[in-house]
Amino acid sequence: MKRLEGKVVFSGIAIGKISIMKKENQSVRRWKVDDIEAEKARVDEAKEQAIGELKKLYEKAVQEVGESGAAIFEVHQMMLEDEGYLESIDNIIETESVNAEYAVASTADNFAAMFSAMEDEYMSARAADIKDISERVIRVLMGKGESGLDGNEPVIVVAEDLAPSETVQLDKSKVLAFVTKYGSSNSHTAILARTMNIPALINVGYGEEIDGKMGIVDGKEGILIVEPDEEVLERYRAAKEEELKKKEMLKELKGKPTVTKSGREMKLYANIGSISDVATVLQNDAGGIGLFRSEFVYLEKSDYPTEEEQFQIYKQVAQNMAGKKVIIRTLDIGADKQVDYFNMDKEENPAMGYRAIRICLDRTEIFKTQLRALFRASAYGKISIMYPMIISVKEVKQIKAIVAEIKAGLDREGIPYGDVEQGIMIETPAAAMISDLLAKEVDFFSIGTNDLTQYTLAIDRQNAKLDNIYDSHHEAVLRMIQMVVDNAHKEGIWAGICGELGADMTLTEKFVKMGVDELSVSPTFILPIRKIIREME
Ligand code: PEP
Ligand code: MG
Repeated sequence: MKRLEGKVVFSGIAIGKISIMKKENQSVRRWKVDDIEAEKARVDEAKEQAIGELKKLYEKAVQEVGESGAAIFEVHQMMLEDEGYLESIDNIIETESVNAEYAVASTADNFAAMFSAMEDEYMSARAADIKDISERVIRVLMGKGESGLDGNEPVIVVAEDLAPSETVQLDKSKVLAFVTKYGSSNSHTAILARTMNIPALINVGYGEEIDGKMGIVDGKEGILIVEPDEEVLERYRAAKEEELKKKEMLKELKGKPTVTKSGREMKLYANIGSISDVATVLQNDAGGIGLFRSEFVYLEKSDYPTEEEQFQIYKQVAQNMAGKKVIIRTLDIGADKQVDYFNMDKEENPAMGYRAIRICLDRTEIFKTQLRALFRASAYGKISIMYPMIISVKEVKQIKAIVAEIKAGLDREGIPYGDVEQGIMIETPAAAMISDLLAKEVDFFSIGTNDLTQYTLAIDRQNAKLDNIYDSHHEAVLRMIQMVVDNAHKEGIWAGICGELGADMTLTEKFVKMGVDELSVSPTFILPIRKIIREME
């Protein structure tokens, strides 16, 4: 039994097999084999399975991005049938008496080098495809599932680090917990873990040898126990039972209002990143969705989502929420949320760089596509729109002009849309300091304490080394929240908190007293916070 310490990102207990998630460029070991024919047969089988996967991917991609976007998966299937490629693999196995993984990796290196050296741009670009298909075959040979995880059973996912794009692609039903070596508790991967209600630890120094072993994630103490003995296992099984019982008790609060004993009501909404989170929102009886991070719609795709694709997603969320408020935040990429197809330049300081509304007001075609989808979807439910990373009244005015253009276009085409409330995120000190001016321009404020803390304290929320001093309880942050709430009320609009601080139960009472009108939190925090508020005077 081994105990590895880390830092808690989301609490809870998980018990199950550990699976180290291999990234691309997984290292391939070489070993001698006796049965050459059996090794060649392994290649053949893996190739067939890889082709099967590519066929499915092609069909999925046709649905999502159309035939031309999906064509690459057909090309990959053909490459996997290429005689020269397959002969080279067999040849290496035969002449060197080595394992299939190594033979595929060597062939990939040789072919990729050959393609890269070609003058023809099209041909030299095929080097990346050769690597891609070979990695797929190697992964199959290693018995890993498509997400990089073993087989079908749910596992404790262990990785060096996880980018938000990798996290969203994981099949959530197969993940018991996340454990990473790097990362920070304010990163979007951490936020996703909370939304998914999955115990998560960071800063855990682990070795490859733990792969496939039984493990326990203790999301209270912040430890990963590898190969627990029977007594420890029993103790944690009992603790998990207890955890489930507590959750059951909270269910009694479903359907009850979030109101203090003296009658002060708090709107309690949920944060989501994708349509699949709506089920948890409903299960936890949130009053609405206070933050739909729409950039995850973009992160899940391999090309710009079309207006129609976005419209279908927003419409479905609005319909599933059946008349409850759904606040959708417009695209907030940049910083840790990078989308390849945006082809953004590498920046020295991306958190302060070209991101969020700055991109939308610059590349307005992207913004307009999203706004049209949002307004069209607003005819099917109660959609509100909110804009991220605002620093000036000028930006709000620019947004309003674009919105007016979108609405005029829809009017001309006779396309219906609802009465859409429009608000902004207060997540820069600039926005907090001019919240009196901004309040005159919008319908509501939602305070993004994650970024507000980062920019106020000048602490990169991604920097694990600074995790200990990244403090959203800092008086400067709390004073700004009070200022924003007061300025909102002076103009008769409401102000909520949608950053992670909103779910900090040590502050719930304080927020009520400060006059905060709404808290938007990960779905699993809804009932515990409702409990606190209902017990307040
Ligand atoms: C925030 O900054 O507090 C926020 C809610 O937005 P995000 O975490 O997505 O940056
Ligand atoms: Mg933010």
